[in-house]
Amino acid sequence: MSFRASVLTLFPELFPGPLGASLAGRALAAGLWQLEPVDIRAFATDRHRSVDDTPYGGGAGMVMRADVVDRAVATVADGRPLILLSPRGRRLDQARVAALARGAGVVLLAGRYEGIDQRVIEARGFEELSIGDYVLAGGELPSMVLLDAVVRLLPGVMGASASAAEESFSDGLLEYPHYTRPPVWEGRAVPAVLLSGDHAAIAAWRRAEAERITRERRPDLLAAKVASRAGAP
Ligand code: SAM
Repeated sequence: MSFRASVLTLFPELFPGPLGASLAGRALAAGLWQLEPVDIRAFATDRHRSVDDTPYGGGAGMVMRADVVDRAVATVADGRPLILLSPRGRRLDQARVAALARGAGVVLLAGRYEGIDQRVIEARGFEELSIGDYVLAGGELPSMVLLDAVVRLLPGVMGASASAAEESFSDGLLEYPHYTRPPVWEGRAVPAVLLSGDHAAIAAWRRAEAERITRERRPDLLAAKVASRAGAP
């Protein structure tokens, strides 16, 4: 069975959106993963098909109802991780993406309005993941971000599996710079070592560049790498 992604949303028409193009779209068409948008509004029971209500305690905005959301969850929950996209969640990173890609799939819950009634988040054990410290209007784009990152790691999706192993974050470093033809552009030459044909020298240069860029831009990543080595058995 291929990786199955169910996305619970008030806007199912937004899918597949960008996930229908390029790498993810070709993989979807080839059956390497499955995408199932689930319309939360279909699980409303009153005649206005309401999915939200005013917050207890007062305040601005509306809150998505636990009972309606839960009926939608129940139609797809089958042991796959339940994930709520939320600015309150732990920051999504490549390690979590890779772990999800090794599993059978995900059930994603995309919030709207002020968010979701806390009780259904707790009762069903949703993991909360954020895509960054800013607030979007809904969880659909964050769901697409998560799926784009996961799908490209699924077996058979990327041509050369080595390219995933070398890219940013996969070994705790940012990636080295890339160059292609022409060899000189606007007076800027490609680093000579890349034209040398000396594979060991090229590998050493790329490693040094990855370390330099990480040190300059994300010293926190280097510190985490050192700490994880120190903690390793
Ligand atoms: N009132 C919420 C708060 O202050 O934390 C913000 C709700 S936001 C307007 C509506 C929905 O967008 C959220 O329920 C969530 O699903 C999604 N969302 C917004 N920003 C996000 C982020 N940075 N990461 C993941 N999901 C986000």
